Amino acid sequence: MITTKKKLTDAKVKNAEPRDKQYRLADQRGLYLQVQPNGSKFWRYKYRVINDGRWVEKALSLGTYPETSLAKARELHSKAYQLRFDGRDPSLVKKQEKELARERLYPLEFPSYFMEPKSSEFVVKRCGALGKALIAKRGFSKGERLFIFTGITLSKMTQHSLQVEAGIHIHDPYVMGYAIHSCKPNCTVDVKERTFTALENIKENDLITMNYNETEDVLYKDFICECGFCDKTLIQGKNLPNESDDKKIKRLLLENDWHFAKTLAHIPHYYSRGREWQEIDDFIWACDHIQNNSITGTFSETGAYEYNYFYLGKWKYWVMEKNKPSSQQILINKALA
Ligand SMILES: [Zn+2]
Repeated sequence: MITTKKKLTDAKVKNAEPRDKQYRLADQRGLYLQVQPNGSKFWRYKYRVINDGRWVEKALSLGTYPETSLAKARELHSKAYQLRFDGRDPSLVKKQEKELARERLYPLEFPSYFMEPKSSEFVVKRCGALGKALIAKRGFSKGERLFIFTGITLSKMTQHSLQVEAGIHIHDPYVMGYAIHSCKPNCTVDVKERTFTALENIKENDLITMNYNETEDVLYKDFICECGFCDKTLIQGKNLPNESDDKKIKRLLLENDWHFAKTLAHIPHYYSRGREWQEIDDFIWACDHIQNNSITGTFSETGAYEYNYFYLGKWKYWVMEKNKPSSQQILINKALA
Protein backbone atom coordinates (compact mmCIF):
# COMPACT_ATOMS: atom_id res chain seq x y z
CA MET A 1 0.00 0.00 0.00
CA ILE A 2 1.32 3.40 -0.95
CA THR A 3 0.93 6.25 1.46
CA THR A 4 0.66 9.75 0.07
CA LYS A 5 1.94 11.65 3.08
CA LYS A 6 5.59 10.71 3.24
CA LYS A 7 7.81 12.64 0.94
CA LEU A 8 11.06 11.32 -0.41
CA THR A 9 14.40 13.09 -0.09
CA ASP A 10 17.46 12.92 -2.32
CA ALA A 11 19.25 10.92 0.38
CA LYS A 12 16.41 8.41 0.74
CA VAL A 13 16.31 7.85 -3.01
CA LYS A 14 20.08 7.51 -3.24
CA ASN A 15 20.38 5.16 -0.27
CA ALA A 16 17.45 2.90 -1.13
CA GLU A 17 19.02 -0.59 -1.10
CA PRO A 18 17.72 -3.45 -3.24
CA ARG A 19 15.79 -6.22 -1.47
CA ASP A 20 14.87 -9.77 -2.42
CA LYS A 21 11.69 -8.45 -3.97
CA GLN A 22 10.98 -5.20 -5.80
CA TYR A 23 9.45 -2.49 -3.64
CA ARG A 24 8.14 1.04 -3.90
CA LEU A 25 9.02 4.24 -2.09
CA ALA A 26 6.14 6.68 -2.27
CA ASP A 27 6.63 10.40 -2.75
CA GLN A 28 3.29 12.14 -3.21
CA ARG A 29 0.11 12.03 -5.26
CA GLY A 30 0.92 8.73 -6.91
CA LEU A 31 4.60 9.38 -7.65
CA TYR A 32 6.86 6.60 -6.43
CA LEU A 33 10.33 5.16 -6.87
CA GLN A 34 10.45 1.46 -7.67
CA VAL A 35 13.57 -0.38 -6.51
CA GLN A 36 14.38 -3.65 -8.30
CA PRO A 37 16.23 -6.62 -6.76
CA ASN A 38 19.15 -5.91 -9.14
CA GLY A 39 19.45 -2.37 -7.74
CA SER A 40 17.98 -0.47 -10.68
CA LYS A 41 15.53 2.27 -9.75
CA PHE A 42 12.82 3.94 -11.75
CA TRP A 43 10.09 6.52 -11.34
CA ARG A 44 6.43 5.80 -11.86
CA TYR A 45 3.22 7.75 -11.53
CA LYS A 46 0.35 5.58 -10.44
CA TYR A 47 -3.14 6.78 -11.26
CA ARG A 48 -6.54 5.38 -12.06
CA VAL A 49 -8.77 5.77 -15.08
CA ILE A 50 -12.27 4.52 -15.78
CA ASN A 51 -12.24 1.77 -18.39
CA ASP A 52 -15.51 0.05 -19.34
CA GLY A 53 -17.13 1.48 -16.23
CA ARG A 54 -14.42 0.22 -13.90
CA TRP A 55 -11.52 1.92 -12.24
CA VAL A 56 -8.28 0.59 -13.66
CA GLU A 57 -4.85 1.36 -12.24
CA LYS A 58 -2.20 2.58 -14.65
CA ALA A 59 1.46 3.47 -14.16
CA LEU A 60 3.22 6.10 -16.25
CA SER A 61 6.96 5.71 -16.64
CA LEU A 62 8.84 8.89 -15.69
CA GLY A 63 12.44 7.74 -16.25
CA THR A 64 15.17 5.95 -14.36
CA TYR A 65 17.24 7.07 -11.39
CA PRO A 66 19.86 8.64 -11.25
CA GLU A 67 19.43 9.91 -14.85
CA THR A 68 16.15 11.40 -13.68
CA SER A 69 16.63 13.08 -10.32
CA LEU A 70 13.95 13.38 -7.66
CA ALA A 71 13.40 17.02 -8.64
CA LYS A 72 13.07 16.13 -12.32
CA ALA A 73 10.71 13.25 -11.55
CA ARG A 74 8.54 15.60 -9.51
CA GLU A 75 8.47 18.06 -12.41
CA LEU A 76 7.39 15.32 -14.87
CA HIS A 77 4.89 14.01 -12.35
CA SER A 78 3.40 17.45 -11.86
CA LYS A 79 2.75 17.75 -15.64
CA ALA A 80 1.19 14.30 -15.77
CA TYR A 81 -0.86 15.04 -12.64
CA GLN A 82 -2.16 18.21 -14.27
CA LEU A 83 -3.24 16.20 -17.34
CA ARG A 84 -5.02 13.79 -15.03
CA PHE A 85 -6.65 16.72 -13.29
CA ASP A 86 -7.87 17.93 -16.71
CA GLY A 87 -9.50 14.55 -17.25
CA ARG A 88 -6.89 13.19 -19.65
CA ASP A 89 -4.89 9.97 -19.50
CA PRO A 90 -1.17 10.91 -19.36
CA SER A 91 -0.07 7.53 -20.80
CA LEU A 92 -2.31 8.08 -23.79
CA VAL A 93 -1.11 11.66 -24.24
CA LYS A 94 2.50 10.44 -24.14
CA LYS A 95 1.75 7.78 -26.74
CA GLN A 96 0.04 10.30 -29.01
CA GLU A 97 2.97 12.71 -28.68
CA LYS A 98 5.37 9.93 -29.63
CA GLU A 99 3.31 9.05 -32.69
CA LEU A 100 3.17 12.70 -33.71
CA ALA A 101 6.95 13.00 -33.31
CA ARG A 102 7.47 9.98 -35.56
CA GLU A 103 5.28 11.63 -38.19
CA ARG A 104 7.31 14.83 -38.29
CA LEU A 105 10.15 15.85 -40.57
CA TYR A 106 10.79 19.10 -38.74
CA PRO A 107 12.40 19.15 -35.28
CA LEU A 108 10.02 18.80 -32.35
CA GLU A 109 10.83 22.34 -31.20
CA PHE A 110 9.07 23.63 -34.32
CA PRO A 111 5.37 24.08 -33.62
CA SER A 112 3.32 21.59 -35.64
CA TYR A 113 0.85 23.02 -38.12
CA PHE A 114 -1.72 22.22 -40.77
CA MET A 115 -0.37 20.58 -43.98
CA GLU A 116 3.18 20.22 -42.70
CA PRO A 117 5.23 17.57 -44.56
CA LYS A 118 4.94 14.15 -42.89
CA SER A 119 7.46 11.35 -42.70
CA SER A 120 4.82 8.94 -43.98
CA GLU A 121 4.69 10.92 -47.23
CA PHE A 122 8.23 12.24 -47.75
CA VAL A 123 11.79 11.34 -46.99
CA VAL A 124 15.08 13.22 -47.36
CA LYS A 125 17.85 10.85 -48.36
CA ARG A 126 21.11 10.68 -50.25
CA CYS A 127 20.68 10.13 -54.01
CA GLY A 128 24.11 9.54 -55.52
CA ALA A 129 25.54 12.59 -57.31
CA LEU A 130 22.49 14.69 -56.42
CA GLY A 131 23.36 14.56 -52.74
CA LYS A 132 20.47 14.64 -50.28
CA ALA A 133 17.11 14.97 -51.98
CA LEU A 134 13.44 15.16 -51.07
CA ILE A 135 11.52 12.10 -52.27
CA ALA A 136 7.82 11.22 -52.33
CA LYS A 137 6.78 8.16 -50.34
CA ARG A 138 3.34 8.06 -51.93
CA GLY A 139 1.78 9.18 -55.19
CA PHE A 140 0.29 12.66 -55.65
CA SER A 141 -2.07 13.77 -58.39
CA LYS A 142 -1.59 16.74 -60.64
CA GLY A 143 -2.86 19.87 -58.92
CA GLU A 144 -2.61 18.35 -55.43
CA ARG A 145 -0.94 20.39 -52.72
CA LEU A 146 1.95 18.35 -51.31
CA PHE A 147 2.76 20.32 -48.19
CA ILE A 148 3.29 23.71 -46.62
CA PHE A 149 6.91 24.22 -45.61
CA THR A 150 8.31 26.34 -42.83
CA GLY A 151 11.69 27.76 -41.89
CA ILE A 152 13.56 30.75 -40.59
CA THR A 153 13.31 34.08 -42.40
CA LEU A 154 16.71 35.54 -43.24
CA SER A 155 17.98 38.55 -45.17
CA LYS A 156 20.57 36.39 -46.91
CA MET A 157 20.24 33.25 -49.00
CA THR A 158 21.67 29.92 -47.90
CA GLN A 159 22.14 26.62 -49.65
CA HIS A 160 18.75 25.56 -48.27
CA SER A 161 16.71 28.74 -48.67
CA LEU A 162 14.09 29.99 -51.10
CA GLN A 163 13.58 33.62 -51.89
CA VAL A 164 10.27 35.25 -50.97
CA GLU A 165 11.26 38.59 -52.45
CA ALA A 166 14.48 40.58 -52.83
CA GLY A 167 16.29 40.41 -49.49
CA ILE A 168 13.89 37.93 -47.83
CA HIS A 169 14.72 34.24 -47.81
CA ILE A 170 13.24 31.27 -45.95
CA HIS A 171 15.89 28.88 -44.69
CA ASP A 172 14.73 25.27 -44.29
CA PRO A 173 17.51 22.70 -43.89
CA TYR A 174 14.98 19.91 -43.16
CA VAL A 175 12.50 19.55 -46.01
CA MET A 176 12.04 22.24 -48.69
CA GLY A 177 15.79 22.94 -48.80
CA TYR A 178 16.28 19.49 -50.38
CA ALA A 179 13.89 19.89 -53.31
CA ILE A 180 16.03 19.28 -56.40
CA HIS A 181 16.05 21.60 -59.42
CA SER A 182 14.60 20.49 -62.74
CA CYS A 183 13.93 22.54 -65.88
CA LYS A 184 10.70 20.54 -66.17
CA PRO A 185 9.79 20.24 -62.48
CA ASN A 186 6.97 18.17 -61.03
CA CYS A 187 6.09 20.92 -58.54
CA THR A 188 5.45 24.62 -58.54
CA VAL A 189 6.29 26.64 -55.45
CA ASP A 190 4.38 29.54 -53.98
CA VAL A 191 6.89 31.13 -51.62
CA LYS A 192 4.34 33.51 -50.10
CA GLU A 193 1.93 30.67 -49.29
CA ARG A 194 4.91 28.34 -48.70
CA THR A 195 3.27 25.57 -50.72
CA PHE A 196 4.51 22.89 -53.09
CA THR A 197 1.84 21.90 -55.63
CA ALA A 198 2.08 19.03 -58.12
CA LEU A 199 2.35 20.11 -61.77
CA GLU A 200 1.94 16.51 -62.89
CA ASN A 201 1.17 13.16 -61.33
CA ILE A 202 3.95 12.18 -58.94
CA LYS A 203 4.67 8.53 -58.21
CA GLU A 204 6.00 6.91 -55.07
CA ASN A 205 9.85 7.25 -54.95
CA ASP A 206 9.89 10.18 -57.40
CA LEU A 207 12.18 13.08 -56.59
CA ILE A 208 10.29 16.24 -55.64
CA THR A 209 11.57 18.81 -58.13
CA MET A 210 11.11 22.54 -58.61
CA ASN A 211 12.56 25.15 -60.93
CA TYR A 212 14.98 27.31 -58.93
CA ASN A 213 14.49 30.08 -61.49
CA GLU A 214 10.87 30.26 -60.34
CA THR A 215 11.80 31.79 -56.99
CA GLU A 216 15.47 32.80 -56.95
CA ASP A 217 16.90 36.04 -58.39
CA VAL A 218 20.38 34.59 -58.03
CA LEU A 219 21.48 31.23 -56.74
CA TYR A 220 23.64 30.45 -53.76
CA LYS A 221 25.78 28.57 -56.26
CA ASP A 222 25.39 28.48 -60.07
CA PHE A 223 25.44 25.01 -61.61
CA ILE A 224 25.22 23.17 -64.90
CA CYS A 225 21.84 21.43 -64.98
CA GLU A 226 21.73 17.67 -65.49
CA CYS A 227 17.95 17.37 -65.22
CA GLY A 228 17.70 15.63 -68.58
CA PHE A 229 15.06 18.04 -69.90
CA CYS A 230 17.50 20.80 -70.91
CA ASP A 231 20.73 21.04 -72.88
CA LYS A 232 22.97 21.31 -69.80
CA THR A 233 21.85 24.86 -69.06
CA LEU A 234 23.72 27.06 -66.62
CA ILE A 235 21.21 27.67 -63.83
CA GLN A 236 21.76 31.12 -62.30
CA GLY A 237 18.39 32.31 -61.11
CA LYS A 238 15.61 34.34 -62.73
CA ASN A 239 16.69 35.65 -66.15
CA LEU A 240 19.09 38.15 -64.64
CA PRO A 241 20.37 39.43 -68.02
CA ASN A 242 16.96 41.03 -68.49
CA GLU A 243 16.84 42.54 -65.03
CA SER A 244 16.19 46.28 -65.18
CA ASP A 245 18.57 48.67 -63.40
CA ASP A 246 15.74 49.65 -61.07
CA LYS A 247 15.22 46.05 -60.02
CA LYS A 248 18.93 45.35 -59.79
CA ILE A 249 19.74 48.29 -57.50
CA LYS A 250 16.79 47.38 -55.28
CA ARG A 251 17.90 43.77 -55.07
CA LEU A 252 21.55 44.62 -54.38
CA LEU A 253 20.75 47.16 -51.69
CA LEU A 254 18.34 44.75 -50.02
CA GLU A 255 20.50 41.67 -50.22
CA ASN A 256 23.58 43.03 -48.55
CA ASP A 257 24.25 43.62 -44.87
CA TRP A 258 23.94 47.01 -43.19
CA HIS A 259 25.62 48.06 -39.98
CA PHE A 260 24.46 50.89 -37.75
CA ALA A 261 27.10 53.65 -37.59
CA LYS A 262 27.52 53.69 -33.79
CA THR A 263 30.20 56.39 -33.76
CA LEU A 264 27.80 58.88 -35.34
CA ALA A 265 24.69 57.93 -33.42
CA HIS A 266 23.49 61.54 -33.42
CA ILE A 267 23.23 61.30 -37.23
CA PRO A 268 21.49 57.91 -37.45
CA HIS A 269 22.60 56.02 -40.54
CA TYR A 270 23.80 52.61 -41.68
CA TYR A 271 26.67 51.50 -43.87
CA SER A 272 27.41 48.52 -46.07
CA ARG A 273 31.03 47.54 -46.73
CA GLY A 274 32.06 46.71 -50.29
CA ARG A 275 34.34 43.96 -49.05
CA GLU A 276 31.38 42.21 -47.47
CA TRP A 277 29.45 42.01 -50.74
CA GLN A 278 29.51 38.65 -52.47
CA GLU A 279 30.50 40.26 -55.78
CA ILE A 280 32.72 43.34 -55.82
CA ASP A 281 31.50 44.09 -59.36
CA ASP A 282 27.98 44.42 -57.96
CA PHE A 283 29.26 46.86 -55.35
CA ILE A 284 31.00 49.00 -57.97
CA TRP A 285 27.91 48.87 -60.18
CA ALA A 286 25.74 49.96 -57.23
CA CYS A 287 28.12 52.88 -56.42
CA ASP A 288 27.95 53.96 -60.06
CA HIS A 289 24.19 53.74 -60.08
CA ILE A 290 23.93 55.75 -56.87
CA GLN A 291 26.33 58.43 -58.12
CA ASN A 292 24.62 58.71 -61.51
CA ASN A 293 21.13 58.97 -60.06
CA SER A 294 21.72 61.26 -57.10
CA ILE A 295 20.49 64.69 -56.21
CA THR A 296 22.27 67.03 -53.82
CA GLY A 297 20.93 67.33 -50.31
CA THR A 298 21.93 67.86 -46.73
CA PHE A 299 21.38 65.94 -43.57
CA SER A 300 18.35 67.47 -41.96
CA GLU A 301 19.79 66.61 -38.53
CA THR A 302 22.82 68.89 -38.96
CA GLY A 303 22.11 71.01 -42.02
CA ALA A 304 25.83 70.89 -42.68
CA TYR A 305 26.58 67.60 -44.38
CA GLU A 306 26.03 68.02 -48.08
CA TYR A 307 25.95 64.85 -50.11
CA ASN A 308 24.54 63.50 -53.33
CA TYR A 309 21.66 61.30 -52.32
CA PHE A 310 20.00 58.52 -54.24
CA TYR A 311 16.42 58.08 -53.03
CA LEU A 312 14.79 54.65 -53.03
CA GLY A 313 11.65 53.86 -51.03
CA LYS A 314 11.97 55.29 -47.53
CA TRP A 315 15.77 55.43 -47.70
CA LYS A 316 18.39 57.76 -49.17
CA TYR A 317 21.75 56.28 -50.16
CA TRP A 318 25.10 57.90 -50.77
CA VAL A 319 28.65 56.79 -51.38
CA MET A 320 31.36 57.60 -48.86
CA GLU A 321 33.48 59.84 -51.02
CA LYS A 322 31.54 61.69 -53.66
CA ASN A 323 34.55 62.83 -55.71
CA LYS A 324 36.14 59.42 -56.13
CA PRO A 325 35.41 56.81 -58.82
CA SER A 326 33.22 53.90 -57.78
CA SER A 327 36.14 51.46 -57.93
CA GLN A 328 37.72 53.37 -55.01
CA GLN A 329 34.62 53.46 -52.82
CA ILE A 330 34.64 51.48 -49.60
CA LEU A 331 31.17 52.08 -48.20
CA ILE A 332 27.63 52.85 -49.19
CA ASN A 333 25.63 54.71 -46.54
CA LYS A 334 21.92 54.90 -46.01
CA ALA A 335 19.59 56.88 -43.77
CA LEU A 336 15.86 57.39 -43.60
CA ALA A 337 14.90 59.92 -46.26
ZN1 LIG B 1 17.73 21.35 -66.71
